[in-house]
Amino acid sequence: MKTEISIKINDKFKAEYAKGYPLISKEALEDPEVIATEGSILKLVDKQGHFLAKGYYGRQNKGYGWVLTNTESETIDQTFIEQKLAAAISRRHAFFTNKETTAFRIFNGEGDGFGGLIIDYYDGFYLLSWYSEGMYTFKDQVIAALQNVVDCKGIYQKKRFDTKGQYIEEDDFVAGERGEFPLVVKENGVNFAVYLNDGAMTGIFLDQRDVRNVIKQKYAKGKTVLNTFSYTGAFSVVAALGGATNTTSVDLAKRSSSKTIEQFSVNGLDFESQDILVMDVFNYFKYAKRKEMKFDLVILDPPSFARSKKYTFSTSKDYTNLMKEAIALTEKNGVIVASTNSASFGMKKFKGFVDKAFKELGGKYSIVEEFTLPSDFRVRKEFKEGDYLKVLFVKLS
Ligand code: SAH
Repeated sequence: MKTEISIKINDKFKAEYAKGYPLISKEALEDPEVIATEGSILKLVDKQGHFLAKGYYGRQNKGYGWVLTNTESETIDQTFIEQKLAAAISRRHAFFTNKETTAFRIFNGEGDGFGGLIIDYYDGFYLLSWYSEGMYTFKDQVIAALQNVVDCKGIYQKKRFDTKGQYIEEDDFVAGERGEFPLVVKENGVNFAVYLNDGAMTGIFLDQRDVRNVIKQKYAKGKTVLNTFSYTGAFSVVAALGGATNTTSVDLAKRSSSKTIEQFSVNGLDFESQDILVMDVFNYFKYAKRKEMKFDLVILDPPSFARSKKYTFSTSKDYTNLMKEAIALTEKNGVIVASTNSASFGMKKFKGFVDKAFKELGGKYSIVEEFTLPSDFRVRKEFKEGDYLKVLFVKLS
């Protein structure tokens, strides 16, 4: 049985919680010195002690934990979790029946009613991501609930929280049968090699599905493509399949090259006719400028924060400069796919970064496509901040 403690919410935030705001944030607490163990049940009350909401304590970068219900009599147990999972799965019915896409998100944290827990589906296998030690205390209940609501081949997990500053190399396998990796999944008919047992990332970022699809369908044919911060080259692969005349993938990580070769290969594409470079993007920009190279389509999808030997990059400070570098390498009438997964600013501000780059260089542009998270990455209306993805297709004129 989990311990339950009451915490007082200050008057300013009272109405928000009554309306369903899910994050237990520091600013909302009367006394931010919460004495609770990870995973305890928190009862949010107003100054007079009236019930507002119930949640759990799980410290993570976003806050102190998540609200789970506004009904005082509801208990947070396996049945509760099972109901949330079943509802989430029925919302994704169309995904489960689509044979062309076999990898998608089935549970998106607070968007599906349980912040701190993410579950992705990879062709019969389920990958659980735990975002705090507190969330991890629900592990047995979540696994039992999941096994009750779906037919799992196997379950894997990623602990996405700090285990006392130490990274413990552990087996990510949890239950069922072990997969054979790479597992080849499909996305709109395109193959992707994924690994559920090899570090923090699987080889594909599922949130860019719609963006990949539109690149393949509408923006690649007959074009030269530069894919920066390319990781496993997923954008390059869809561009090549969509008829690009050439793709260039640039990523700093040594293993990105073999991973990109693998993604081309599982789609029957000749990787040798593509350019795959292990290189700092900022050095590549200098090199390409010197060679007076230009591309029809330039993809910019940097991490929110990155540090290499020579450069430090923070999306919120440096996107305008990055955009200027991209503009310099883009043909007239060419398109830049400007993407960011930074949760620290919204779409309006992001558009401002893009606009500033053009103003400073004196060029003209129009935004021809705009994307946020796809529908399986469910966001709730009371917590729009949960929609971190922002992608703009910017056409130079
Ligand atoms: N666009 C990719 C995901 C990018 S993940 C996709 O859709 O799959 C971020 C990548 O940026 C990582 O692979 C990391 O190695 C790379 N990276 C970070 N800093 C970099 C730099 N300065 N130059 C090149 N690559 C960098």
